Amino acid sequence: MQNRTILHLDMNAFFAAVEQRTNPHLKGKPVLVCGNPKGRTVIISPSYEARAFGVKTGMNLWEAKKLCKNSILVECNPANYVEVANHLQKLFIQFTPLVEIFSIDECFLDVSGCQRLFGSGRDIALKIKKRVREELDITCSVGIGPNKLLAKLGSHLKKPDGLVIIEPEKIQQVLENLPIQELCGIGPRITEKLNKLGVYTCGQLARYPVEILQRMYGIVGLHLHDIAWGVDDSPVMPYDYVEPAKSVGHSFTLPKDTFDREVAKKYLLQLSEQVARRLRKGNYKGKTVHLIIRIPDFTTLGQQVTIRKFLDEGVEIYHTAVKILDKFNVEAIGVRLLGVSVSNLICGSSQLSLMPEENRRQCLIYAMDKINDKYGEFSVTWGRLVSGFKQNNIISPAWRPHKNIRFGYN
Ligand SMILES: [Mg+2]
Repeated sequence: MQNRTILHLDMNAFFAAVEQRTNPHLKGKPVLVCGNPKGRTVIISPSYEARAFGVKTGMNLWEAKKLCKNSILVECNPANYVEVANHLQKLFIQFTPLVEIFSIDECFLDVSGCQRLFGSGRDIALKIKKRVREELDITCSVGIGPNKLLAKLGSHLKKPDGLVIIEPEKIQQVLENLPIQELCGIGPRITEKLNKLGVYTCGQLARYPVEILQRMYGIVGLHLHDIAWGVDDSPVMPYDYVEPAKSVGHSFTLPKDTFDREVAKKYLLQLSEQVARRLRKGNYKGKTVHLIIRIPDFTTLGQQVTIRKFLDEGVEIYHTAVKILDKFNVEAIGVRLLGVSVSNLICGSSQLSLMPEENRRQCLIYAMDKINDKYGEFSVTWGRLVSGFKQNNIISPAWRPHKNIRFGYN
């Protein structure tokens, strides 16, 4: 782990930048990328022109419109962002196979082993920035440091189009007066708690007794102490590394709150189908089903049930989820969001059943999967779902390229 050179690349206002690239008339204008503008949505990505007015990611449409009257709303086009992300990844792995996708517009590169070929970390960063600008017409901020923590901090310090190098001998100087929440891994809750103890900067956190941190947070306390000193030994994982799934889930905010159990069940069936599809794609089966219900006042309720059999079929997951739903009085509490996930997973057991009826069903699902793989999700589905329930596909922050479709080939 000695003397590593890590780059963190962060695309600037990624979704908005891709929209401006695709539709040149949007260039130089305040663009707000959002979900379905007719539904309940928030700003997913404001362009830098809109950020100048104070618009931030996560704001409501009306809030953003109030700050920036001339802003242009654009509905997000996830397929375009994935295409650009794939292009970026192809570009990065020309420098090193150690490219870890952190989110759709951020990744880490470990260039420790390729500097003889391509020059210093700074040279590589400049080459990549140039190619990203020329090939994709977007900009990125790059941070360079001896580990992922400091590389990420570097790219965060100068936006847009920045290049910040944190040399090992400058680490303490950079961290001394840095507010703790600027470090990746310190969220609002930990920040609030530490602030109450009089700890505001990384310097203060570094000097805070590690025993107390450990008592408060257990192993996380030790981690907090380490990162306050700029220490982070975590490796950059190669781009084709796939972490074994612990659970597979989907959630969906209903277009409007419902107090009708049957409506909730219909969404539940669709979510169960989506979860089942993802389980089968990864060759997983699971036997614990979780149901999450967020009610209109944003309280989140949930329960899980573990059954005997391992499942990967939507209808089976659905029936288990409905059993949980039945414990809640939907008519009284209302539903704003539903989430279904399956955990307790095993991988690689796609054995055909010996029971003729079950076997027939497995063949049917296999055929449906093939059709949906080829023609898009929900091209064929169960009768109960055929009534305009197709939902907008929104990219989650946990987006990762799918192994089989990454470059359009296996
Ligand atoms: Mg970004």
